[in-house]
Amino acid sequence: MSAATTRSRTPDRLCAEAVDLARAVAEEVAAPGIVGEHDGMVSEGDRVVTHYFACKEMGYRGWRWAVTVARASRAKIVTVDEAVLLPGSDALLAPEWVPWSERLRPGDMGPGDLLPTDAEDLRLEPGWTGEDEPPPNSAVSHEMADLVEAEDAEVTAGPPAELSAVPARGTISAVAEELGLSRARVLSRYGLHVAADRWEDGYGPKTAMAQAAPAPCVSCGFLARIGGSLGQAFGVCANEFSPADGHVVSLAYGCGGHSEAAVMPKPPRVAPPVIDETRVDPFPLRPAADSGSVPAAEDQDSAELGHS
Ligand code: SF4
Repeated sequence: MSAATTRSRTPDRLCAEAVDLARAVAEEVAAPGIVGEHDGMVSEGDRVVTHYFACKEMGYRGWRWAVTVARASRAKIVTVDEAVLLPGSDALLAPEWVPWSERLRPGDMGPGDLLPTDAEDLRLEPGWTGEDEPPPNSAVSHEMADLVEAEDAEVTAGPPAELSAVPARGTISAVAEELGLSRARVLSRYGLHVAADRWEDGYGPKTAMAQAAPAPCVSCGFLARIGGSLGQAFGVCANEFSPADGHVVSLAYGCGGHSEAAVMPKPPRVAPPVIDETRVDPFPLRPAADSGSVPAAEDQDSAELGHS
């Protein structure tokens, strides 16, 4: 019995003596050979005592089997309440549980994986669904107003099927469609900001590559512009030799692959041959007998005559 683990309250004598009963129950619950030495007891209350036994199972260092026994008032028989495995003060514990949504890291998702988005995801906000717009056959709808104006006549409401399904130009539907807002949810202001911060970290003006670049992406011919508000600060690099190829880059980013950084010099163009047709060059038909001597004047003349 360990005095350190015994509370100041005096344990019930019969319950304190029921060590063998507690061990038998612990061994029944645990696998054979797992229950170790008796490791103290704790008085839980009147006639209620918990006995502790060391756990010898590998991987459960510092854990203890705790068997609580009790006795009814004026009864002599001790009974067992429960038997559990509990961690001691120096027990080896598993790390604190972290929900999967907080454990997930970029790049963890593989083919076929589904990543549910929280209904309260701050990066998203409701898009324009058209629910607020009056129905097409309503007297105050844009479609009915257009029909009235076009026909300049009294128009009675008809079923929506008689009206065009394609949003007319200038309507809220058409504008929302054009702006890409006609989705269940769209990026919120917060979502835009966190995306912009993330992209700037990877391909922003403060990166070493951008600091050493000859010019920013905004003036590069390989930059593909993107729409929306993010297009005011970002584009997509389309230079296959750039480290940012296919990535969203800040307009202030840059790299050595900038289209105007180092224009290759053109290869020199060889001048076309010039034929001088104003004079005739003498050319001997056969070398002189003595290769070291100059051809005789008459031979040279005849050769020239023959050539001409
Ligand atoms: S090639 Fe370099 S400078 Fe040009 S868009 Fe890509 S990252 Fe920017």
